[in-house]
Amino acid sequence: MYYGYGRGYGYGMGFDPLYILVIIMAILCMVASARVSSVYKKYARIRSMSGLTGAQTAMEILRRNGITDVTVAHVSGNLTDHYDPKRRMVCLSDATYGSCSVAAVGVAAHECGHVLQHYTGYIPIRIRSAIVPAANIGSKAGIPIILLGFFLSFSPLVTIGIWVFSLAVIFQLVTLPVEFNASHRALVMLEQYGILGHEEITHSRKVLSAAAMTYVASAASAVVQLFRLVLIYGRRGND
Ligand SMILES: [Zn+2]
Repeated sequence: MYYGYGRGYGYGMGFDPLYILVIIMAILCMVASARVSSVYKKYARIRSMSGLTGAQTAMEILRRNGITDVTVAHVSGNLTDHYDPKRRMVCLSDATYGSCSVAAVGVAAHECGHVLQHYTGYIPIRIRSAIVPAANIGSKAGIPIILLGFFLSFSPLVTIGIWVFSLAVIFQLVTLPVEFNASHRALVMLEQYGILGHEEITHSRKVLSAAAMTYVASAASAVVQLFRLVLIYGRRGND
C-alpha cells in the first residue's frame, strides 16, 4: 500500500527534506569529534598531582579490583584507546600510556571501566558484544540490500535490508549506556582510590563527557538515517 509520503513531501521530484537532517547529523558528528580532540589537548597539558601515568593508573585500578588476567598495552595512534576483551588487554594510545595528565588518567580509568563491565556481567555490554558481528554486517550491507531490493522492485529484500541496517542502529544505541557507565565507574574509582583530587576529577569528567558526545552524535545520526530509509524505501517496498 502506498501512503503518498513521497508525493506529498516531494520525494518524487528529487527533493528529500530528511536528507538535510542527515547532513546536519553528519556535521554534528564532525563537531563532536573535533571537540573531543580539543578538550583532550587542553587537559593533556594539566599534570595530575599523583604523577601516575595512564598505564600506571590502569594497572592500579586492575590491582585494586583483584583483576590479574588483564594486561595493559601500548597501541599507536591518536585516541585509539580501547579494551580488547578477547585478548584481555587494556590498550592505551601514545597520548595516554605514558602521560600523567588528567586527560590520560581519565581515559585509562574509562577503559578499566569497560574491563569491570565485562567482569561484573553488565547487561548492556553483554548485549553489545553479542550483536557486534551482526552490527558490522548491518552497517556495511544494510543500505546496498535496500537499494538492490528497491531497483529490483522486490519488497521483501527492502524489508530485509532495513532490518539488517537496524542492527547497526541498535548497536549504536546500546553503546550509549556502555560508554556513560564506563565513564561513571572511572570517575568514582579515581576519586575512591585517591588517584585524582576533587578538581582533577572535574577536568577528567570534561574529557570523558566530550568523548561520550561523539557516541551520542553518531547514534542520533544512525537513528535519523534509519528513519529516512523506512520512510523512503519501507513504504515503497510495501506497495
Ligand atoms: Zn569506552
